Amino acid sequence: MAENKGVTPRSEDYSRWYTDVVQKADLADYAPVRGCMIIKPYGYELWENIKSALDCRFKATGHRNAYFPLFIPMSYIEKEAEHVEGFKPELAVVTHGGGSELDEPLVVRPTSETLFGEAYAKWIQSYRDLPMLINQWANVVRWEMRPRLFLRTTEFLWQEGHTAHATRDEAVDETLKILDIYAEVSEKVCAVPVIKGRKSPQEKFAGADDTYTIESMMGNTWALQGATSHFLGQNFAKAFDITFLDESNELQHVWTTSWGMTTRTVGAIIMTHGDDKGLRLPPAIAPIQAVIVPIWKTDEQRDSVFEFANQVKSQLEAVGIRMHIDERDGLSPGFKFNDWEMRGVPVRLEIGPRDVEGQSVMAGRRDVPGKEGKQIIPVAELAARIPALLEEIQEALLREATEFRDSNLHEVNSYDELKAIVGTGWGLMWHCATPECEDKIKEETKATCRCFPLDQNPEWSPEGAKCAVCGEPAFGKAYFARAY
Ligand SMILES: [Zn+2]
Repeated sequence: MAENKGVTPRSEDYSRWYTDVVQKADLADYAPVRGCMIIKPYGYELWENIKSALDCRFKATGHRNAYFPLFIPMSYIEKEAEHVEGFKPELAVVTHGGGSELDEPLVVRPTSETLFGEAYAKWIQSYRDLPMLINQWANVVRWEMRPRLFLRTTEFLWQEGHTAHATRDEAVDETLKILDIYAEVSEKVCAVPVIKGRKSPQEKFAGADDTYTIESMMGNTWALQGATSHFLGQNFAKAFDITFLDESNELQHVWTTSWGMTTRTVGAIIMTHGDDKGLRLPPAIAPIQAVIVPIWKTDEQRDSVFEFANQVKSQLEAVGIRMHIDERDGLSPGFKFNDWEMRGVPVRLEIGPRDVEGQSVMAGRRDVPGKEGKQIIPVAELAARIPALLEEIQEALLREATEFRDSNLHEVNSYDELKAIVGTGWGLMWHCATPECEDKIKEETKATCRCFPLDQNPEWSPEGAKCAVCGEPAFGKAYFARAY
């Protein structure tokens, strides 16, 4: 008999727990090249569901998908000074092709502002060409010295949006509109609550005027940056000479934005919802929303149980539920229950001979252990009650994560108070936004500046407020936390 080996308890070793879940829930595996990963079908299906939630929202707001090449001439990367400085340490560079040394080395794209910049300079002539709103789904490479599955990999999947606008205001609006889309997908679809904020100058994207972020709290209270949206000002427009003739026939530089969300979102979902039994998936993105585990002893029972199970499956598929029947032979029901718990399937339907007789199923919730999470549902009520149950689970996961996060957010009035809570929560503190203070805090506490939350309390006034570390005038209140 096969045996279920569980995962390392979170309290024992959080990092080991995470790796165990990724592998035992069948999401991903290591690849021959260090830092790369193989995303297995179950993990990829999860990503596909995140991807469609984003893609339909991008399209609904006027963006179109395109595909730009993987290789970027080295000279392009070097055109925007801050950009190259920021990315140089992470670049993978191709020097040979077709058996001979290339005249110019090619960078394997770490991000595509430069290629879009070059193309937009050609494509944009007049105000009529604006705004230009393009997104691409692609892989990128950023050399990673300390890789972790999904969270930090040398190659990862993402979408990158690149837009050009006639005015500064329009570009800023776009940056924030996308931030709202990221927040909505994170909270409503992935059930991962976020804090929307602005990055400090030190933490912003290389080449941006402003970077906006969504930050989430993982199960060990560390922070994870979920996605970023950048207002690029006219930096790339000037570096690539992207100009247009405005309505009064004057030549102007455009204003650009860029924004991305990556496969690291899968890691955020694991660490927000997972428990010591494995993964817990929000129904909205679960590749399997309800799994049927048939239970039988004799061949005769097997036939009637499977017939009933198939009937239940089609009934629920007809109302749009993603279903699966566990038909594996030679495994005990107990083994199968544990296995589906490990994979985080939100609802389990047990069907045995007595259920066939009673024309009902036993439904169990992944998020509520034991008897409390179980209920008997008559077959005639399944089509109404299972979708409602999935919605309830979706909300319960978001609520649980939000309560956990809120109970670990602390407003701190001094640097000493911050030191006392770092590692067990986030501290919200007056901050001057200088790299000097951030470096000091990082060195002494390992906490980094996550963001200046956008919904700063209007009662707080930076007027007269001082940085809790250096005493210089504060820029605002910022969250500090250990982070992935
Ligand atoms: Zn300071």
